[in-house]
Amino acid sequence: MCGIAGVWGSSYASQYAFLQIYSLQHRGQESFGLSSSDGKEIRTIKKPGRVLEALKQEDLNYLKGSMAIAHVRYSTAGDSGATNAQPIVRKTDLGELAIVHNGNLVNYLSLRGELEARGVEFRYSSDTELFLALIDTGETFLPEGVKLHPRDREILPRLFYALSRVEGAYSFLMIAGDKLIAGRDPLGFRPLAVGRKGKTLLFASESCAFEIVEGDLWREIRPGEVLVVDEGGIRSYFPFDGAKRAQCIFEFVYFSRPDSFIFGEWAYEVRKELGRQLAREDDTEADVVVPVPDSGVVPAIGYAQEKGLPFEMGLIRNHYVGRSFIEPTQELRNLRVLMKLSPNRAVLKGKKIVVIDDSLVRGTTSKRIVNMLRRAGAKEIHMRIASPPVIGPCYYGIDTPTREELIANRMGLEEIKEFIGVDSLRYLSLEGLRSCVRERENFCDACFSNEYPIPVEKVAVSRRR
Ligand code: AMP
Repeated sequence: MCGIAGVWGSSYASQYAFLQIYSLQHRGQESFGLSSSDGKEIRTIKKPGRVLEALKQEDLNYLKGSMAIAHVRYSTAGDSGATNAQPIVRKTDLGELAIVHNGNLVNYLSLRGELEARGVEFRYSSDTELFLALIDTGETFLPEGVKLHPRDREILPRLFYALSRVEGAYSFLMIAGDKLIAGRDPLGFRPLAVGRKGKTLLFASESCAFEIVEGDLWREIRPGEVLVVDEGGIRSYFPFDGAKRAQCIFEFVYFSRPDSFIFGEWAYEVRKELGRQLAREDDTEADVVVPVPDSGVVPAIGYAQEKGLPFEMGLIRNHYVGRSFIEPTQELRNLRVLMKLSPNRAVLKGKKIVVIDDSLVRGTTSKRIVNMLRRAGAKEIHMRIASPPVIGPCYYGIDTPTREELIANRMGLEEIKEFIGVDSLRYLSLEGLRSCVRERENFCDACFSNEYPIPVEKVAVSRRR
């Protein structure tokens, strides 16, 4: 998974982009990058690690210009490490182009093979390079009925060609000459929004990134929309609009920050509703509701409110450790769970507790947490998960493990209960999950349902880890 941010029309462009991408750090911690431009020259800095540690004041001084795009990476396709950090920059006959991308392209390998056979060169192993390589072929495509503004006649038919060839999930921001271009794939898998701060335009994966620069959400980029901004104004195009949508429901379950407005709703409200629905489906009685911080907190509030039970912080989080999942190896992930959470004996001792977490993926985190709760004296532990069992890997940008690693594919409910060591275990039903979003038909929930909006045969080849 990744986060992207952009700024157009400010002498503080790179500073704002830096702040925005910092507030999207939860979307990726492996590497960070920022490109800025004055409309003529693109300057880029890419570094491994997290934003605050990676970026230095001298970097910001170097990143001049009134436009900027930024990226935090959490590799889902391509090698990890700094080599595939974004923005990806490429010299073309249209000048230098820079792009940041969130999502996975599912026809990466075949398309790359085709282009390489035609002599197109690639420098990275990330699917994002495809956009610029396709533009670089010089081929054009103008969908019928699309009328181009004179300022867009050069770049857009080239970009539309690229978009007509790639398949899968993409929200992107691109610097092309004096323009900043934003776009979302027609199914709208990943979020992307545009905000305003006076005359400055802001772009970000999630609206929480506008707050940090005292900007306001203007609107979301619509699925299939390409938005161009330059001195001539803002222009919106829909080259490939279709009726079908596949917005990622896992963004609501886990990924997005709760204070973000995505897919037409506040993540906080949907997430709380997940907890309420979970409570409605559950007749367990308990003394106290305990969330697994941070991801279980909002659904636990909903659960506790629905049940009229006290909500208590029975697990305390050390805030100096990052998200445990975002580590490339299992061994590191295991260690991190213990570093991150500690049992609060004042709440737990002798109590019958309901523990709420957002999702159960491999089951290793929960096992360790339950162990902790028992050691601290909890009398009964009832684990409740605010989403259905994860049974399918994601091919559209969320880093889920392989099908075999998913605990719900390896064990039945009773076995999982034993493995984790709880007195009872219950998930939110699929129907219950779907009832928590307003437009259920517009969502992809393949990780819970195995119903993939883009056929799996096509995508299986391009999944690399
Ligand atoms: P586990 O069951 O040990 O694999 O850990 C599951 C926990 O990791 C969940 O409760 C989430 O909080 C978190 N999680 C689930 N999916 C992801 C993901 N794709 N990326 C990062 N964290 C995740």
